[in-house]
Amino acid sequence: MEQTFIMIKPDDVQRGLVGEIICRFEKKGFTLKGLKLQTVERSFAEKHYEDLSKKPFFGGLVEYTISGSVVAMIWEGKNVVATGRKIIGAINPAESAPGTIRGDYAIEIGRNIITGSDAVESARKEIGSLHPWIYE
Ligand code: UDP
Ligand code: MG
Repeated sequence: MEQTFIMIKPDDVQRGLVGEIICRFEKKGFTLKGLKLQTVERSFAEKHYEDLSKKPFFGGLVEYTISGSVVAMIWEGKNVVATGRKIIGAINPAESAPGTIRGDYAIEIGRNIITGSDAVESARKEIGSLHPWIYE
């Protein structure tokens, strides 16, 4: 069965949005297969966003990701990778539709509160090898 890696970024943990976000995935019908609240090591944040390392916002993105506790989750279900991205909404909260997580709870692209695997292959990598701390 297909799985996806979803990470709730530090600001929604601070804002108390964790339950709301879990609720949306649960109500849709997906199955929670793993969940961990933890501060992420800088090296994991850098690895997670490795493909963006040349971007001007990379430094800020890493600082944001390690600025507090994140909630990492593994969700399972039919088409969960693509559907998970729809539940999350477009990358820029100014363009995310109302009803999506970013559309409802975020304003800034640099503070877009949640991330999810963008393809089945990256989900496999993120769950399988990139984030062993989920299983510690
Ligand atoms: N990001 C940013 N400024 C930009 C583009 C991206 O701060 O101009 C951040 C944003 O937090 C985004 C993250 O970089 O979630 C990773 O970008 P990606 O393209 O992987 O988007 P995602 O997979 O999170 O939707
Ligand atoms: Mg991405």
